[in-house]
Amino acid sequence: MEIVHITAECYPAAKAGGLADVAGALPKYQNLAGHKASVIMPFYHNKFRNTHTFSNIFSGYARLADITYTFHVLIPEGLDLGFDLFMIDIPGLFDRESIYSYNDDTERFITFQIAAANWLCAWEKPADIIHCHDQHTGFLPFMLSKVWDYRRFENVPSVFTIHNGEYQGQFGMNNLNYLPPFHSFFSGLIEWEGDINPMASGIKCAWKVTTVSPGYMEEISHSMSGLEKLLRIERGKCTGILNGIDTEIWNPETDPMLETNYGIDDVDEGKTAIKEQLCNQFGLDPNKPLFSFIGRLAKEKGADVLPDVVYQTSAGFPGEQNILVLGSGEKNIQDGFLTLEQQFRGNFSSYIGYNEKLAHSIYAGSDFLLMPSRVEPCGLNQLYALRYGTIPIVRRTGGLRDTVTDMGDGGFGFCHDQCTTHDVTHAMSRAKAFYQYPELMTSIRRHVMGIDHSWNKAAAEYIELYKSLK
Ligand code: ADP
Repeated sequence: MEIVHITAECYPAAKAGGLADVAGALPKYQNLAGHKASVIMPFYHNKFRNTHTFSNIFSGYARLADITYTFHVLIPEGLDLGFDLFMIDIPGLFDRESIYSYNDDTERFITFQIAAANWLCAWEKPADIIHCHDQHTGFLPFMLSKVWDYRRFENVPSVFTIHNGEYQGQFGMNNLNYLPPFHSFFSGLIEWEGDINPMASGIKCAWKVTTVSPGYMEEISHSMSGLEKLLRIERGKCTGILNGIDTEIWNPETDPMLETNYGIDDVDEGKTAIKEQLCNQFGLDPNKPLFSFIGRLAKEKGADVLPDVVYQTSAGFPGEQNILVLGSGEKNIQDGFLTLEQQFRGNFSSYIGYNEKLAHSIYAGSDFLLMPSRVEPCGLNQLYALRYGTIPIVRRTGGLRDTVTDMGDGGFGFCHDQCTTHDVTHAMSRAKAFYQYPELMTSIRRHVMGIDHSWNKAAAEYIELYKSLK
């Protein structure tokens, strides 16, 4: 089966979060299962562009309202990702470093979708499945079936995956002309509550809709920033498929980003060595349990409760534990951490920014990973933590509920119900008590490292879903 994934992010070419990890792994595992999967994404002017060479395999035009953009399809040379990566270079819109957060993101990603559709038209034969990811590609299921120019794709099944329902990309009807011409009879398919909404359009028009965990699918039919009613209407074609992780990249035995590699048998030695190095780097005490947080400093991730958690648990300073944060995001949360760092030096430290290598070391060197998320569609951090023998402390929500079971229920993590200082510090107290029993720590570390969260299962579930559409 030939599958084309269309996405704004794909590891290692451009990553802002979990979408990149999924788009960089799912096609690889689909290919390993004997299919032909490729990825189409924008070409950003970032580090990946500066460190690779590319060949131009196609040039064309994409028209957005009155402006015609030239685009080029580039492929990286001499790189084996396990799938073909097609990168659409659109000078004027994507020749910038960041993936998102520009004032013209609407124009950028609609033009990207038009360019992707124009290029797909140049293929000798359409792919069997077009798989679109998140709102940045949400118009494609509509365009490929209802826009005059793309009618040849009318019978090609499209799948739309919601990685994060909070970002919907809606904009005013006054910019309807951004979309290529279609019969006005279909305009309801791009609209939701008076706005043009690419997330809603993807949900309405794709043949199947998936989310990245069954738990999140259930939650968004009750609450999805205004789209919950639509989800309930379309429930019949929606499924939750839990993400996997790329166990080749995320493997503590071979991970080149770690100073010390380790496996199940020498997990304690390996983790202790990396923890010591991390504690040296951040001025923390390696004899105390290390609790870490990695991620966007946003309310969605519950990062706003962490400053108070640091404050409460470090009272009676020096506290009983170390806390280390890696992330960037809302300024007031960042500022909170910088102040606390001064106040509780030796107990708390943070790295404000994005650092892939440091993230790997933290997953490996920490004893516990904090994830107090308010919303977590799947969450990959807890899966990486498990793979590296780190015990997750999670709020019971979305994919966290699906993947972490509390010790009290015979599981391997610490779970709490609310995103509050009280719930997080209570879960941390339980973890600190557990930490006092080294043999139990070792046996849980070994157990969690052996849990299979590889993509094999999820990749097969997607293939079954595609087959149901043929
Ligand atoms: P999101 O909602 O942000 O996509 P996920 O849990 O699905 O959350 O994925 C987050 C991914 O981004 C993980 O691979 C995590 O390690 C990575 N990540 C997040 N913030 C940072 C950071 N500041 N530095 C390095 N990696 C990060």
